[in-house]
Amino acid sequence: MYLDRVLGWFSVDMGIDLGTCNTLVCVRGEGIVLNEPSVVAVRKGTNQVLNNGQAVGWMAKEMLGKTPGSITAVRPLKDGVISDFEITEAMLKYFIQKVNGRTKIFGPRVVISVPSGITAVEKRAVFTSAERAGARQIYLVEEPVAAAIGAGLPFTEPTASMIVDIGGGTTEVAIMSLADIAVCESIRVAGDDFDEAVINHMKKTYNMMIGEQTAERIKIEIGSASPLGEEKTLEVRGRDMISGLPRKVVVTSEEIREALQEPVGSIIEAVTRTLERAEPELAADLVDNGIMMAGGGSLLRGIDVVIQNATGLEVRIADDPLTCVARGTATYLENIEDWKGTLENDMEA
Ligand code: ADP
Ligand code: MG
Repeated sequence: MYLDRVLGWFSVDMGIDLGTCNTLVCVRGEGIVLNEPSVVAVRKGTNQVLNNGQAVGWMAKEMLGKTPGSITAVRPLKDGVISDFEITEAMLKYFIQKVNGRTKIFGPRVVISVPSGITAVEKRAVFTSAERAGARQIYLVEEPVAAAIGAGLPFTEPTASMIVDIGGGTTEVAIMSLADIAVCESIRVAGDDFDEAVINHMKKTYNMMIGEQTAERIKIEIGSASPLGEEKTLEVRGRDMISGLPRKVVVTSEEIREALQEPVGSIIEAVTRTLERAEPELAADLVDNGIMMAGGGSLLRGIDVVIQNATGLEVRIADDPLTCVARGTATYLENIEDWKGTLENDMEA
């Protein structure tokens, strides 16, 4: 205990949100110090991370645009499961060392939030990767729990809290009480699927091919889940599928909303299913406590409204939903002595 405190002066405490889209690191006393895409550039057909293991995050994204062909981008957590252990390890190692390298002598203490759907083997892999990256102490916390902490919900109290965290690859829905997850569901429908729905709509309606980044931009600029006070339009550029030539069209927020209906519907179903599975006492608490949303997908206009309409519960969006989980992991680390053992699934070095 005393030794721990002394070590603390010479080492850093970091909370890591290992997301399907973005990885964030939050350091005690400093806030968010790293926010990069969960992307790794490898030589095609191999697990070899380019630039001696440095082609991670922004650097990987940048390299992609410039050197197509033999290089591919891998999002190792894309669907909320670890598709490639080695690449995940390289990524985690790079991020931990990037943050730790600039300061301290001893290895950091880290809390890593992992999707609630991942297997024991995958958890072990994350744990081992952090160990190899030089972490002195490692705790894993399930993403909905970290989101609840980050959003300031009373998750240790004997009352129900509900989180809907819409990320890039997965949406996590969980009801917790007394620092424990009572029911949860993780579905592979989230922000990426909104983009894909936009791509399909452009193909079907305009015979136009657009890239993922354009699709994401359309979603962010004019996308919505429920009618907007003032509907919007956007000029979109892409490639005509018949002539093969570049052209542009004007799309409206109404048609994009229509296109997003299916993935949005899947998320609503996951929310109502989870509510149906909750014990009556917990469900009753939610009448007062409502639902809290987090993750980048919760920024889709009107997504709170459609969930509110479908459930009859009050829906709020966390402050700064993109950093909610990362901030939650750091807070968890600050309170670790009090909370240790109350969380069932954490591991300790
Ligand atoms: P993860 O935790 O899986 O890494 P994030 O919580 O970082 O995911 O959210 C990433 C998703 O949020 C992406 O699909 C991105 O397009 C989406 N997103 C970010 N900002 C917005 C916005 N303003 N409106 C709609 N979607 C957004
Ligand atoms: Mg997330």
